[in-house]
Amino acid sequence: MKLNAHYDNLKESYLFATVANKTAVYTKEHPDKKIIRMGIGDVTRPLPYAVVEAGVKAARELGDAATFRGYGPYEGYEFLRQAIADYYGARGVKLGLDEIFVSEGAKSDVGGILDIFDKDNTVLLPDPVYPVYVDSNVMDGRKIVFTHGDRENGFLPLPDEKVECDLIYLCSPNNPTGAVYDKAGLKTWVNYANKIGAVILFDAAYEFFISDPDLPHSIYEIEGADTCAIEMCSLSKTAGFTGTRCGYMIIPKKLGKCNAMWLRRQSTKFNGVSYVVQRMAEAVFSAQGVAECAENVAYYKRNTAVMAETFSKLGMWFTGGVNSPYIWLSCGGDSWKFFDKLLSEANVVGTPGAGFGACGEGYFRLTGFGKYEDTVEAMARIAKIL
Ligand code: PLP
Repeated sequence: MKLNAHYDNLKESYLFATVANKTAVYTKEHPDKKIIRMGIGDVTRPLPYAVVEAGVKAARELGDAATFRGYGPYEGYEFLRQAIADYYGARGVKLGLDEIFVSEGAKSDVGGILDIFDKDNTVLLPDPVYPVYVDSNVMDGRKIVFTHGDRENGFLPLPDEKVECDLIYLCSPNNPTGAVYDKAGLKTWVNYANKIGAVILFDAAYEFFISDPDLPHSIYEIEGADTCAIEMCSLSKTAGFTGTRCGYMIIPKKLGKCNAMWLRRQSTKFNGVSYVVQRMAEAVFSAQGVAECAENVAYYKRNTAVMAETFSKLGMWFTGGVNSPYIWLSCGGDSWKFFDKLLSEANVVGTPGAGFGACGEGYFRLTGFGKYEDTVEAMARIAKIL
């Protein structure tokens, strides 16, 4: 028996596990302190009413012999894929139902999609980066090259013709920086990928936070993307599904064998998302569902507005928070030290930029996903100590 030796090349623990551990140690030592968590990007608003109603109805159907259902289609029920296709259609993106694959979330898709790509491929990742892109490729032993995001390029790096790669991960709106590519930026990536025969893995998990009408929600709003891009999306942040679990992936037929290979992969390794959850997901895309999700997103953005106001007053540079739930803050030095300071002096938990890659050092991520009152209190505490 041989273990996968590539695991030895992973960092000892997943970033958010380290943040959680450090917080747990502090809480144990100081049980009297009220910690405000603005680290991990988990939501706090409850599920929309339309979604809950759909779930209750679906659960009742399963309790009745006449409407009971067992295994569903590997690619997801048609009613949900149709709802997703209509959601994209409203933005002028035409999708075939056989191009949509329902999943239990974007994290498993981000890692799972690598099954259809050779381990000899070179992967291009933007730095700072969502750590899952790095770790899933390290586990496979794939070669990784980085493209650098910084203040000069607004944390939106563009392709470098000298860099050779086969797979490219892009995340927009970005986790952790909150930066969003405009159509021209994405077009540059699409042209580059088509030219060199690379595939873009486009993570649109935060698309619902885009409020600027000129910014693209999907890479398929860009001409030529259907021959070079796979898109992943999640209902976690859109609709509060972090615990409920549902997402989807789009693999255009024009992308050659990828679509058929993913169906083959899913029918082997995946037995579908539960019927109840798929009915709940369908309700997210209803008029009432979209309206309720928009209310929740507005709630989170009120938080990021409070955060933005605080850091502006403190004269600290930051970006994000407008088309994204994240504020990306310049902390002026060692971001783990800044983490420790915030935890011990303000009892506020954030995420050190260094955990998102070398280019993240000197920055700090705070999320707007908390309760409004907690956000206000956290900002008051931070303003006192900085
Ligand atoms: N992609 C990005 C960029 C994320 O930030 C996250 C979660 O924070 C995910 C994917 C995972 O989403 P899901 O909950 O659907 O697995």
